[in-house]
Amino acid sequence: MSTAIDRMTGLRPVVLTGDRPTGGLHLGHLAGSLAERVRLQETCDQFVLVADLQAMTDNAGNPAKVAEAVPEVVADYIAAGLDPTKSTMFLQSGIPELSELTMLYLNLVTVSRLERNPTVRDEIRQRGFERDIPAGFLCYPISQSADITAFRATKVPVGDDQLPMIELAQEIAIRVNRLGGSEILPRPEAVLSAVTRLPGIDGLGKASKSLGNAIQIGDPADVVREKVRMMFTDPNHLRVSDPGRVEGNVVFSYLDAFDGDVAAVADLKDRYRAGGLGDSVLKRRLADVLEALLSPMRERRRAIGRDEAMAILAAGTLRARAVAAQTLVSVRSALGMPVLV
Ligand code: ATP
Ligand code: MG
Repeated sequence: MSTAIDRMTGLRPVVLTGDRPTGGLHLGHLAGSLAERVRLQETCDQFVLVADLQAMTDNAGNPAKVAEAVPEVVADYIAAGLDPTKSTMFLQSGIPELSELTMLYLNLVTVSRLERNPTVRDEIRQRGFERDIPAGFLCYPISQSADITAFRATKVPVGDDQLPMIELAQEIAIRVNRLGGSEILPRPEAVLSAVTRLPGIDGLGKASKSLGNAIQIGDPADVVREKVRMMFTDPNHLRVSDPGRVEGNVVFSYLDAFDGDVAAVADLKDRYRAGGLGDSVLKRRLADVLEALLSPMRERRRAIGRDEAMAILAAGTLRARAVAAQTLVSVRSALGMPVLV
């Protein structure tokens, strides 16, 4: 469709992903989506958003936390290997067109559809919102649909908690196309990594910024070792000689995700199941694997100052806004909005 957008995005597939600035990024992000983004930036037009408006939906009482996390997230992107010359990193609130798209899409989705979203239901429970759910929180999947469709993204690398959001974005794109009578928005698809849900160190659920159960990309080496030492394993594996469980054992989940020596990990699993292998041996191995992974990232992270991170975001926001503005024009027209002359 629009030649301006096609000129900006060429014929390469468009990727949109992002993260809520609610803290620094963690190993779940690395395994679930960041590693994939580092690959995709070579072959796709990739937009990476720092979703500050979405973060405000459950942090309205603590905006400083969100503001402080913005440059942290950008530093983590650079640390993980995102390159500002290849990926457009931008700030959600810097693109008012995204909010207008959200406003238009709100009319295409029912409240009961939003209430059925299993990820949002879990999050409402975890946050203890119960009957006092901020309207913005219930509606944040619609704002995600605006983010995805604004860039006409077809690939969305995410963890599996985000699948219901992609489904909603697909439905909205279909609705807009039907109302406009043409293929205005392409169908977005989730791109899942091999690790779609890295558990938290407590083994209770997924690693999450808000639950404080994650190893952060920027954690110092001693903090990483301490978190590995505290990791949930098999509570019934009391003596080294006892047979141990591999399933649900967080240390093995992390070894599967980050230890490149698959054969050695398989051998450790056999020995653990049979009995005779202590948790401390496993944990030492994992701590070494994570240190090898994180120490170059820590260095890159240290080299990025707050001002530099914000400058990267400002430049990316300018580029991204031009694309979103084009899409907004098409969607407004598809939905029959009046045009001021
Ligand atoms: P919050 O607790 O504030 O919601 P979060 O840790 O869940 O933070 P998000 O910013 O919500 O992180 O998620 C950003 C992206 O990272 C999403 O695509 C999400 O699916 C993915 N992701 C988050 N946690 C994990 C995890 N533990 N395993 C795999 N992917 C994850
Ligand atoms: Mg989340």
